[in-house]
Amino acid sequence: MLKRLSIFLICFLLLGCSNDVYSVIKQDKKVAINYPVTNIGVLDEAISSYVNKNYSKFKCQKKSCEFNVSYTYNELNDNVINIGLNTFINDKTTVNKIKTFTYDKKTKKFLTMENIVKDLDALDYDIKKRLLEKYREADMDFLSDFNYDYFTIDDQNLTIYFNPAEIKGNNNIIYLDIPLNSLDLLIDNQITNNTYIDLKKKNIDSSSKVVALTFDDGPSKYTDQILKILNKHKACATFFIVGNKVPFYKKTLTKMIKNGNEIGNHSYSHRWLNKLPENEFKNDINQAQNTIKKYTGFTPVLFRPTYGGYSDKLKSYTDLTFVLWDVDSRDWKVKNKTDIFNNIISNVKNGSIVLMHDNHKYAVDALDDVLFKLENDGYEFVTVSELLEIKKLRENE
Ligand code: ZN
Repeated sequence: MLKRLSIFLICFLLLGCSNDVYSVIKQDKKVAINYPVTNIGVLDEAISSYVNKNYSKFKCQKKSCEFNVSYTYNELNDNVINIGLNTFINDKTTVNKIKTFTYDKKTKKFLTMENIVKDLDALDYDIKKRLLEKYREADMDFLSDFNYDYFTIDDQNLTIYFNPAEIKGNNNIIYLDIPLNSLDLLIDNQITNNTYIDLKKKNIDSSSKVVALTFDDGPSKYTDQILKILNKHKACATFFIVGNKVPFYKKTLTKMIKNGNEIGNHSYSHRWLNKLPENEFKNDINQAQNTIKKYTGFTPVLFRPTYGGYSDKLKSYTDLTFVLWDVDSRDWKVKNKTDIFNNIISNVKNGSIVLMHDNHKYAVDALDDVLFKLENDGYEFVTVSELLEIKKLRENE
């Protein structure tokens, strides 16, 4: 008992031990691994060992290799968590896999579909009917050994995956959304929606000397520190966030918006989107839009392509405005505050967009000095949307 209590205290005092996201994004290798850390031993162990097993097989055997783990996370009520892991591997072969977990903190057990839906026979019947509507022409052989091992639940749908093991080539995962309001559930579903909010409007003067700071790949445990430093200087920035991390940083993101910062879309999964077909690209960025809207109340209008890869074709798939940068801090590469400072200060000019990252501490270390210097040089800090507005005003002058 004493041991358990002391572990709890250490956890509480030193580490915070709140839910978090394990996140590794390697810009040069096109590796992005994001998954939730719930502080539930068996669940975290199951997730990390599944991911590690897959990552250990990744050898990057061709130039366009990519490894991506993305997830969905939903708390169905105070006790039940549902997590879906989506693994995409482009190596010697291309593989797409789904793995899902549903865990009840109260009973300390993993849940199966039998624990979730009252009438499985009715569900079976409903699934077959809906599959015929959705995949009229498709070969439905997969139904012969179909089970309910793979499913996710959000505030609207129960989603069932039919071929979640390794799918090679360009085949998509076959899934079916069943609206929750058509089901008799054995668990409470208390997911609630936010009210919608808008950014604070600043008075924009097109003659000001302005700079827009941007942070990619967050939110993370470093984002709060960045918000604090920005606040100290009465500065603002634009955060291009990865959608799947959003459920863990609701407070940070709400504060972000309240303080006059802007949120942009940096995809849901951090997949290399440039080569994706239109429907997959749209699915990914719409999933990010919906998640950001659901948890923060804010709807992004800006998009920053992952790994900086984009094309005119990609741009035509969305109404979101693509935003790149002209000043690269190279923070993830140089990893020290002096180089980050120099990379920014020696290249910045009136109207610049500066690229940094808030998924590591390097930008945090450099930010205070950077802001002091820019202030002294007469810069005003604006969000990217404000900067675009200023550029439009300047063009018309
Ligand atoms: Zn990125």
